[in-house]
Amino acid sequence: MYTALASIRIREGKEKQLVRHHPWVFSGAISKTPKNGLEKQPAVVRVEAASGAFIAYGWYDERSHIPIRLLSWDSAQIPDQSWWIDTLTKAVQRRQLLFNTLSQTNAFRLVHGEADFLPGITVDVFASTIVCIISARVAWFHRLLIVQTLQQLLNPTVIVVATDSAFCGIEQLKEVVEYYVDGQIKPTMPNNSEINFLENDLLYTMALGAGQKSGFYCDQRENRARLANYAQGREVLDAFCYTGGFSYNALKWGAQSITAVDSSETALERLASQLQANISQGKVPSDSAKRLQRIKADVFQYLRNMDQDRYDLIILDPPKLAQTKSQVPNALRAYKDLNRLAIQKIRKNGIIMSFSCSGGVSREQFQTAIAWAAIDAKREVQILETLGQPSDHPIRTSFPESKYLKGFIFTII
Ligand code: SAH
Repeated sequence: MYTALASIRIREGKEKQLVRHHPWVFSGAISKTPKNGLEKQPAVVRVEAASGAFIAYGWYDERSHIPIRLLSWDSAQIPDQSWWIDTLTKAVQRRQLLFNTLSQTNAFRLVHGEADFLPGITVDVFASTIVCIISARVAWFHRLLIVQTLQQLLNPTVIVVATDSAFCGIEQLKEVVEYYVDGQIKPTMPNNSEINFLENDLLYTMALGAGQKSGFYCDQRENRARLANYAQGREVLDAFCYTGGFSYNALKWGAQSITAVDSSETALERLASQLQANISQGKVPSDSAKRLQRIKADVFQYLRNMDQDRYDLIILDPPKLAQTKSQVPNALRAYKDLNRLAIQKIRKNGIIMSFSCSGGVSREQFQTAIAWAAIDAKREVQILETLGQPSDHPIRTSFPESKYLKGFIFTII
């Protein structure tokens, strides 16, 4: 279907990362704006070095903030429809082992964007519902093919496709939510829009197409499970709790009390309704409602105002504090602040689980922020565990941006 491909030259010296399979070509790397109608209609292009040597095939769309997204570095493999079907199928197949081995979890990431060679697409599955979040124009353009392939592979009840509001501005995309049943688009949300799923044998619910990102952060599955080693008998602060992923795991593993703090009222309401469901199914202790307190607050404010020695286990899981490279210095200050307050106020020998999901902040930078926080708090910190992202959120080494979630479990001596 793609004939007479236009060629696009890369400026001398700008090809190094691309040759090493980094998939993003920014406008400054393109030596000449192509003609061939490309300015009107996005299409597959042949990307070549200043010498004329083939680098890769990519998708050109000048309305994207990344005008070329490289897809195939194999000169014999043009990224046509069958490439999309094949690449998506392989991403799903790579998760098959995970499907088979985790009997108490049915919420996973099926596609982790560029890490799976599929730009701007994340796909999560929640029991028999699939949610695709689109953050690039190229993915929006191919969404029907994606939906139909997923329908064939997994036969879900519903597929939700939504654009990621964080990228709509820079990608010139509209904020849209679409619903597909049997691979066909539906004009409205299907009936029974509440879905149930399990993670670590705990029950979660969500309303289709609502909530943040895909509706649930399945990247914290293994880190939540670490509470098995730390929660027993503790007084826990779950800061940035969202719908309570860490809180339920803490309850399950014997926490004495939990304070769950978030600025989102909707998230806290969901936390409460899910708690009832977990209690009635015997998944958390029957007196859990008494043990868990919800507070709508700004976490920074809450930490400043809270009593000294109130908690002996604090979880800090803030949203992405650096959206871009230029925001990294401010984000590091915020990470330091958060951690300093927690380190200052926690009981001696307490445990802190601290996370950063900003791709632009490296693990080393994050650890340094914690080290500075400890110095300011005049306390000694000992790291017990180094945490990351689970295998359904793989890291592609030629695309370091896919490595984003890092965490530490540390104790205060
Ligand atoms: N720990 C959660 C995920 C956290 S996502 C889980 O396991 O599912 C980040 C959360 O921080 C979101 O729920 C968002 O509503 C909340 N948030 C963002 N800024 C905040 C702030 N300043 N104070 C309190 N909550 C905040």
